[in-house]
Amino acid sequence: MSEGRATALVDLPGEWFGLPEGSRAVLEMAETELAAADWLSSLEVGRAVRVSLPEDAPWGPALREYPGDLSIRALTGPPAALPTAVLARGECASAEIPPGQSALERLRACGEAGVPARLADLDLWPGPDLAAALDFYITCPTLESPVEPWHSLAQAVSGGWPCDLWHAEEAVVGRNIYISVQGLATLSARFDRRERWFGAGGEGLEGWRGSALWRELEGYRRALFRTRAECAFCAAFPWCGGFWVAPGLEDHERCEVWRGLMAHLAKMAREAGASATSSTNPMGTPCGRGTS
Ligand code: SF4
Repeated sequence: MSEGRATALVDLPGEWFGLPEGSRAVLEMAETELAAADWLSSLEVGRAVRVSLPEDAPWGPALREYPGDLSIRALTGPPAALPTAVLARGECASAEIPPGQSALERLRACGEAGVPARLADLDLWPGPDLAAALDFYITCPTLESPVEPWHSLAQAVSGGWPCDLWHAEEAVVGRNIYISVQGLATLSARFDRRERWFGAGGEGLEGWRGSALWRELEGYRRALFRTRAECAFCAAFPWCGGFWVAPGLEDHERCEVWRGLMAHLAKMAREAGASATSSTNPMGTPCGRGTS
């Protein structure tokens, strides 16, 4: 588990782990494990690999020498300065903004630089900051780069494509795997933080599928309706899918916040659709997934 994110996240094709084509596995790696460019070269990666690394990572320069097709995402952690250095070098394909004091400032910096951004570790964002980040996304008139998860959800709310928070957060059972720095497999960093795992990384897909967590997640939506849980009657369900009360991860505070945010987003999307403006704000600009 990496609260402070002194680790790099390396995106690998999910097929390598037995998942379907187009799926994604994330490997969390500590600095000591990551001989950066050498390690990636040893994988004989045949296609683009995305690496999220703390901006001040000492092995950052070595990684940038990797000769393959590499997409660097800056992970701008709390102690780091604004991501301006990375943005200015043009090396950053996208930026992950963890919660923290200057998160909104970083978000604005990304917007100004035209760099796609994602709110990282969404479950750790305080409710008021989530609301402020959504407000920035909705109201910034010159914002042209996507901000996730808002961008995907705004498209979904407007009827552009089906997407809920599980998809926007790349936490779909059977399509996403997260292997922690301790070598434990789970669905995402959020599950890792709450110590809910499929099992050891080495168990592989067959082993993970047999775990209690995997089975719970597979039957989760059906169970919400079967048990007539609150989610089944929630107006935000199409864009949340019960994300905030996932098995073992119940967070009623953010569930409450989320209902308000989704109602607001839906209202704004309706108004944007009605006025059919030519604004450059992505609320009115259907396009592909933001940070992928
Ligand atoms: S907002 Fe809360 S009640 Fe509604 S679907 Fe999400 S988790 Fe369930």
